Order: sequence, then structure tokens, then C-alpha cells
Amino acid sequence: MNMDVNNRLIVIDDNPDIHRDFRKILGGIAPAANTPTLDSLEDHIFGEPISTFASKAAFDLTHCYRGEEGCNTIRDANADNKPFFAAFLDMRMPPGWDGLQTIREIRKFDEEVTIVICTAYSDYSWHEIASQAGALDRLMILKKPFDPIELEQLARSLQERDALVRRARLRTDELESAVEERTRQLRKNALTDRLTGLPNRAMLCDRMFTLLSTRSGQSRVEFALLFIDFDRFKVINDSLGHKYGDKLLCAISERLTRELRVSDSVARVEACSPIAARLGGDEFCILLDNIPDIASAEAVASRLVTILTKPYQLDGHEVISTPSIGITTSHIGYASAEDMLRDADIAMYRAKQTGRGRYVVFDRSMYEDAMKRQQLEYALPGAAQRGELIAHYQPIVALDDGSMRGVETLLRWNSPNLGMVPPNDFIPLAEETRDIMPIGEWVLRTACVQLAQWESELQEAAPFVTVNVSRIQITHEAFLRQLRQAMTDIPFTPEKLVIEVTETALMQNPQAAERTLHAIRELGPRIYLDDFGSGFSSLSNLQRLPLNGLKLDRSFLECLTVSRRSAAIIRSTVTLARDLDVALIAEGVESLEHVALLQAFGCEAAQGYYFCRPKPASEIGVGRAILHRLAA
Ligand code: C2E
Ligand code: CA
Ligand code: CA
Repeated sequence: MNMDVNNRLIVIDDNPDIHRDFRKILGGIAPAANTPTLDSLEDHIFGEPISTFASKAAFDLTHCYRGEEGCNTIRDANADNKPFFAAFLDMRMPPGWDGLQTIREIRKFDEEVTIVICTAYSDYSWHEIASQAGALDRLMILKKPFDPIELEQLARSLQERDALVRRARLRTDELESAVEERTRQLRKNALTDRLTGLPNRAMLCDRMFTLLSTRSGQSRVEFALLFIDFDRFKVINDSLGHKYGDKLLCAISERLTRELRVSDSVARVEACSPIAARLGGDEFCILLDNIPDIASAEAVASRLVTILTKPYQLDGHEVISTPSIGITTSHIGYASAEDMLRDADIAMYRAKQTGRGRYVVFDRSMYEDAMKRQQLEYALPGAAQRGELIAHYQPIVALDDGSMRGVETLLRWNSPNLGMVPPNDFIPLAEETRDIMPIGEWVLRTACVQLAQWESELQEAAPFVTVNVSRIQITHEAFLRQLRQAMTDIPFTPEKLVIEVTETALMQNPQAAERTLHAIRELGPRIYLDDFGSGFSSLSNLQRLPLNGLKLDRSFLECLTVSRRSAAIIRSTVTLARDLDVALIAEGVESLEHVALLQAFGCEAAQGYYFCRPKPASEIGVGRAILHRLAA
């Protein structure tokens, strides 16, 4: 701390004797023999000569004889960064400035230096001086004649105060700059993603806001937003651990930045630099400014798909994660960054739905779909408990005599807000949200109750009842429990219940699905393979799985005049079913021609609008011997 101590002081007095006294007392010069006043004083006070300067450093004194001169010297010293901590100032210095004027002049540029007025008498009262000099805490009076010890003590304490003040100021400065640095850091943290160092959502939105507000009113495409989400990221995170998840995110962000630098210098010389940002999780965004048209945004997206799809090496683990990219552009006329982000997100979602590892450009209809989906998502949970579900039944007809052999249970949702929602609209969503489990249980139990009722009315003649079971249900541990419970609670013949399951549903987890099918068969119900021929049909399924029937997908009958190829497939499926000894039901029969064709091929049963649309149980005419008169 010693280096902080300022020992410079200035004496401004027109009397050379005073200067000599100051030098003696404060300047570190040993008192001379011819200084009787001092010597006698020392003797008087201490009984021996004062020896303050033996142990303490002397002051560095500057001597001035006139007010103007003193004032300039103080100014120069300040400019030199060697300020005085105190100025001892005489009050009367004719013919130049007097003490008060000197103070006023000094105070014009220096509020710091402590001014000590040394005076025997003054032309001004203390009151006058105080009111005119300003900075009273830096103003003192030392009455002449003064004791040397009084002067030295005063000088020392002023020096100490000065040192304290400066130390405090230094500390404050340090604190201030620490606070500044911390604030800068916090601001930076608030705008960048910790993990990757990329700009974060806040910074991206900020940039988009600026772009939107400066460009509004022009109609051509000016900037595009690419929303990127990575497939299977969660799987990687869960299987390899978060450490690898983080590494993958960093690797992705490096690739993004590198690719954008390249594409920027190659393709868009005059454009502003694109910004890559991380929104959180595995979601990234690219802001492409100054693009001439959508095609150039698509070109960047296409390159990104290629580059980001390449495998990542993470400490010896090779990882693949394909990006799905949604694109939207400012020509839509966005009012806010959030809206633009939302639409890019919607387009990304569409890219994911339609196959992943691709990009999709946003259009208005996607927004409407997304809104609809959101409404469904909101309304669906609890639909079964609220009694909004309805079971319709569609007859399955024997093609030899037109009698009703069975019925397929087809679910409808009558939502108070959305009206009648067809199953294709809400079942995929219910599968995603797992609402399919309570919904599926409701369908199963409702169909079983209906079957029990028909059996009590018609005994043997009651139709079999089929129930569609989704891919989620078939591998869910609760499904068999639900089935067993229904069989315990509801009195029906197990063999009259048929579970319909599609091949695609079986593909996701073939072993688990196969186990469930065997368990179902052991309980009694039968199993039909639904939509046969539409997906990835594999003959090995037919050989391996415990199936009782096939439902030929309606696409084979879809065109009014069945193509030769379809006809060939229908014919061979009939043969196949016969050879495998399983039932065959053709779906989608809409005309008498269809009926005739199926009869000609020897197909035993069918279902379709030609016979009956799906309807409530009371309306389909169960119990009537013949549902429809068939052309012979
Ligand atoms: P799916 O299992 O293939 O059911 C047959 C679909 O074809 C039904 O559509 C039915 O109304 C329709 N259909 C019947 N005859 C004809 C016809 O002659 N021409 C045409 N064009 N269509 C016909 P729906 O009721 O809209 O059901 C659609 C799909 O929803 C079903 O296809 C099934 O996959 C699913 N689904 C229906 N109910 C349930 C359910 O309770 N649980 C599950 N998991 N899925 C269900
Ligand atoms: Ca079905
Ligand atoms: Ca079907």
C-alpha cells in the first residue's frame, strides 16, 4: 500500500521565511542551530529535539510565492498525474491574487486537493471564506504562528486521509470493473448457448425482430428461417448418456458453422452472414439474410441435410442422426419473430412426419393442420371417460348367401367442440400421446358387451365381432391385462371375438408383438391380419404368426374396374388363404361388380359400403338372415 501514499505537498506563500520553516518541519531537514523558536519548542514539549523524520519519510515540498504561480503548478502537477495531496496557502500575497481568489481558481479545476489556509489574520471572515471557497471538507485553517508539531501532525493526517480516500477509490474502481465484467458475462450468457457457444433463442429472436422491423413493407423474399431438429437424438442421449448427447450437439454445431461459412463465401457473397443458433435440446435454427428467392434457402437446406446426415465420431462411437428441416421466409409477412419460428417449426414437424432426413417449405395449410392437431391434442385426453366415444359396426358378409357372419367395430369420436372426428384423424395422435390405451380399452369392452348382448339374443347365430388394435396396444404390457379383465367381466364366447392387427403394427417390435398374439390365442380370441397386401407384406409372417384370417386391403378394389394386376393378387390371395387354412375377407366392396369378381375368384367373405356403411349396432340389422341379396 505504501506506493499509494502521496507525499507531495505545495506551499504558496510570498514570505520566504515561511517556506524555510515548512522545509524544516516537513522537508526532512534536521533543525539548524539558529532556529531558536523551534529548538525551544522541542525542548519544551519533548525535552529533546523532535526526531519524527528519523523514522518517517519526509514530504516532497514544492514552493510557490504567488497565487497564480501556485495555481498553475497544481494544474501542471495534475496533468502530470503527480497531484499534491495538500496545498498550504497564505491569505495575503500582494500584489497578486490573494488566498481566497487563489482558492477559487484552484477549485475551478481541482476539487480534490486539501487547501490549508495559513494566516495570522485575514481580510475575510471564516464565514466569508467558507461561503466562497466551496469544497468545505477539503478546506482547513492553520492559525499563525503554529507549532511545528501541529503542522507536522496536520500534514501527516491529511496525507493519511488522502491515502485512505485513494485506496477506497481504487477499491471502488476494482469493484466497479468486476461488476462490469460480470454484467458483460451475464449479458453474453443470456444471449448465447452455454454448451455450443452459438447464439440462443433470445439472440435469434432479437436479430429476427430487427430484420422484421427494418424490412417490413417490402414484398420480395428477404430472409429465411431454417428450423432443424434431429431424429433419434433422444435415443442417443438415453442409450449413450448425456455426455455423448452433449458431444453430438457440439459436433453438430461445428458442422453447421463450418458449412455456413463455406456456403456464405461460395454462394452469397454480398449477403450478411447467416446465423446459426441453438434453441435448446436438439433444435437448431439458421437465419439466412438477404436471400434472393426461396430456392436459395432450399439449396442451403439441401446441403445441410447431406452434411448433417453423415455419421459423427464421438470417442470411438459412430452415431447417425438425420436432420429434419422446416423452412419459412419473410415474404409471408410476419409480425413477430415468434410467429416465424412457429411456422418453421410446423414445417419441420411436417418434414419429420413425411420421412425425416429432408426439408419442407412452410405453407398456410400446414398451419391449419397444426392448429387442428393442437385442438385435437387438447380435446382428446379423457374422451373415453367423458362418454364421447361411439362404436359403429360394419357387417362382414358371406359371399355365397349374403348372410352377416361378423361385424367390424369402428370407432368414432363425437367431440362437443370439434364434432364427429373420424378415426384416421385422431388415432395416430392418440398413439403418439398414449391416449390410445384407455381409448382402446373402451372399444374392446364396448365391443365385448355388444357381442355378449347379441349372443344372449341369438345364441349360435350371433355374428363374430372384430376389434382393431393399434401398434401401441399390441406391445403394451397393459393390453393383455385389459383383455383378460374384459373376458372375466363380460360373458361372451372368446372365439367370437377377433383381434384385427396390421402388419405394420407388428413390424415395430416383432418379437413382443408375436408373444402377444400367441397369448391372445391362448385366451381364446382369434386374430385377423388387417390391410393385408398394403404394406410390407411378408410371407414369413403368415407362416410364423398364429393367424386365423386375412383382411385384403381395400386398395385392390379401389378402382371401379379392377386392374389385371389387382385381380391377379386377389386371386392368388384367395388361393393362399385356402392353402394356409385361414379365412379371407375382402375390404372395400362398393359395387355389384366387386361382388361378382370376388365370387368368381372364390372369395368367401367381404365387407364394404355396398353392403352397409359402419353404423350403430341397432341399425345394421343383426339377426336378419340375409343382409343383402347377391347376384347369382
Ligand atoms: P380399417 O381397419 O381398414 O377399417 C376399414 C375402414 O374402411 C373404415 O374406415 C371403414 O369405414 C372404411 N370402409 C368400409 N367399407 C368401405 C368401402 O366400401 N369403401 C371405402 N372407401 N371405405 C370403406 P374408418 O371407420 O374411417 O376407419 C379408418 C381406420 O381407423 C380403420 O381402418 C382402422 O385402422 C382405424 N380404426 C377404426 N376404429 C379403430 C379402433 O377402434 N381402434 C384402432 N386402433 N383403430 C381403429
Ligand atoms: Ca380393420
Ligand atoms: Ca383394413
